[in-house]
Amino acid sequence: MCLEWAGDQDWDRIKGYAKEHGPEVLLWSRVSKLLLGGEMGVESVLTTASQYGSVEMVKLILDAGFDNKEAMYSAADLSMRKSDNSTILRLLLEHGLDPNMDLRIEGVMKCSSNLLVLATGRGHIDNAIALLDHGANVNKVMVDRDGEVASPLEIAMGYGAHDIFRLFLARGAIATTNDVDNLLSICFEACKGERPKLSRDVAIKMFATFLHLGKPDSDVVQDKFNSYLPSIRDPTITNITKHYLQGRPFCCFVCEALTAKSRNKLLICPCRTVAYCSKECQIKHWKKHKVLCTGPLNERGESEAMVKKRPKTGKGMKGGGADVGVAEGADVGVAEGADVGVAEGADVGVAEGAGAKGKNGKKGKKGKKGRGKKK
Ligand SMILES: [Zn+2]
Ligand SMILES: [Zn+2]
Repeated sequence: MCLEWAGDQDWDRIKGYAKEHGPEVLLWSRVSKLLLGGEMGVESVLTTASQYGSVEMVKLILDAGFDNKEAMYSAADLSMRKSDNSTILRLLLEHGLDPNMDLRIEGVMKCSSNLLVLATGRGHIDNAIALLDHGANVNKVMVDRDGEVASPLEIAMGYGAHDIFRLFLARGAIATTNDVDNLLSICFEACKGERPKLSRDVAIKMFATFLHLGKPDSDVVQDKFNSYLPSIRDPTITNITKHYLQGRPFCCFVCEALTAKSRNKLLICPCRTVAYCSKECQIKHWKKHKVLCTGPLNERGESEAMVKKRPKTGKGMKGGGADVGVAEGADVGVAEGADVGVAEGADVGVAEGAGAKGKNGKKGKKGKKGRGKKK
């Protein structure tokens, strides 16, 4: 009965009924096929209230002691479908909903995802943050109907949800070998226009973010990259990858932009380990970088500190002291004249020697076997 009233959003009537007959009347639930787009779900006043976004009702029901976990999962799902407002989701989590619950594994319905995946698929970052705040595992993979495994990172990439992707990396997502492979594959597909939900532009930005924040193992990146035929590799992705593997800056250290705001080239700090898209980003980062910045390098690629450390053999160490002394004087604006805008590291987007050949030495023979690679 209450359920019918809930369908009509007649919350006052339900409240009155609960007052008269005790709050237990709010706890009723049953498994139903009607919910969740034809999937099995659990029907209850709670799920309906969540679906319609009635925070007050949800709170009332939870406070009455509602604890059917499957219904709470369904309620969370429905609330997340509606919007990125995480109020109801947070209430559910505070009342015992397990953020890592997987409804398929629990055997209630054949849904293949967990809540974090659902939030990601909808591009709802607020929901995702709520889940992570309550202990959702950012590395928990989901297994779909065909037994394919996908990580939250991969799903965020597939949906082009850049902000959520960045959030996951910031919250400790660790890129597995599988991730590196899948993300590359998704990027290459997107670059060829084969991904309706992911444009080439966004794919490239996300890939830069991935390397910058995720810091995947270089050997794995190299190996997986090489496993794609040169004809499949996008030149920009190739460039970014190349620079990453060589330890060169490839994007703005702060905002992950690939080019400087006013010019094409990134502004590289004289120490040549970080680059920025703008003075603003550089200033933002300077407090942290100051500690690590070695100042300008001499023509041998040595910093002042390295020169000082070098065993003194008397003469023959030209170029040592030369342009030293910047490190301290540098405070904020570092790179003023110096190397700003040099950035050989930065000509992202050009096509140049795209293929794996640019990868000098290291890869030797094993590189070339490029197979077509899964699709
Ligand atoms: Zn920037
Ligand atoms: Zn520096």
